[in-house]
Amino acid sequence: MLRNDNHERISLSGLTYEQLRSWLSSNMNMKPFRANQIFSWIHQRGVTSFQEMSNLSLSAREHLETLAIITTLRTDSSLSAEDGTIKYSYLLSDGSRIESVLIPEPPRLTACLSTQVGCRLGCIFCQTGKMGLTRDLTTDEIVSQLYQLRSTTETRISNVVFMGMGEPMDNFDNVSNALSIIGDDRGICIGSRKITISTVGLPGGIEKLARLQGQYGLAVSLHSAVEKTRRMLVPASRALPLHRLKQDILDYNQKKGKRVTLEYCLIENVNDSIKEAQALVEFTKGLECKINLLLYNSIEGADFSRPGSDVVEKFIGYLYPRCQAVTLRRSRGADVSAACGQLGT
Ligand code: SF4
Repeated sequence: MLRNDNHERISLSGLTYEQLRSWLSSNMNMKPFRANQIFSWIHQRGVTSFQEMSNLSLSAREHLETLAIITTLRTDSSLSAEDGTIKYSYLLSDGSRIESVLIPEPPRLTACLSTQVGCRLGCIFCQTGKMGLTRDLTTDEIVSQLYQLRSTTETRISNVVFMGMGEPMDNFDNVSNALSIIGDDRGICIGSRKITISTVGLPGGIEKLARLQGQYGLAVSLHSAVEKTRRMLVPASRALPLHRLKQDILDYNQKKGKRVTLEYCLIENVNDSIKEAQALVEFTKGLECKINLLLYNSIEGADFSRPGSDVVEKFIGYLYPRCQAVTLRRSRGADVSAACGQLGT
């Protein structure tokens, strides 16, 4: 989707290469090679003004300035966690705030991006869900988070996860345009295998992702394989019961030949029993998947706790011999509320 700012100028940061080529041809009468140059200035070199585009004539740069902008996000604040994770809060042009996280895990450096201001899905363990949805992010706002994060580090960002604020499948068109831009080898060129999209599973969402070209990682926020528990934790799951979610995951396995990650946030006395573990094992039968367990991170206004280590051990002990792969993921950035479920302003 194209976006105009207050002065009706379009943000070129939010255009895929094809869209940019077509826009430059129609509005500036420019030849296709100019699209290569401008795309690369914005997405590879990270320039923030047309004046820096030294291979364009002065008149072309001035003309561009009258018609278009390059989106930049204003950093409102940043918080560094003990483990090196850094959470940034960005101010958008309409005054909304979003958060993005930079997670160093040498040799990887991962950018965690938001896709919406808030979220309408209301998962009860999630701070963002408590905000409700203000609006979808535009494509330029999604990719600009990545460039803003890139500008803070000398290290190359190797991986991108769409696990920040919002449900990516609820803003699919802008997310898929952002994926096209991020993966383009004329730009920042982060390959689809290095990109993971997280979803609670909306009807048709996984199917749409499977239709995109590219081997994107898929992480499904499962949190329980017992329908009643899952509906309590993830109210939006009413729209996609577990048997249909499982079919969607199976189709993704088959279409992409890829293993899917099942995210499971362990919450004391909610989804940490052996009965829940049994249901989880049953759910994974026939799927190519790995289970990522994480421990609940506290948020304001939610009366949940992490299970004790003995309970976690028992839960894992039940899963280990029965599931293909189980990991207990270390939460990153929890001391600055940058961990899973904690983003929200
Ligand atoms: S966990 Fe994800 S889908 Fe659920 S409320 Fe939070 S941001 Fe939305």
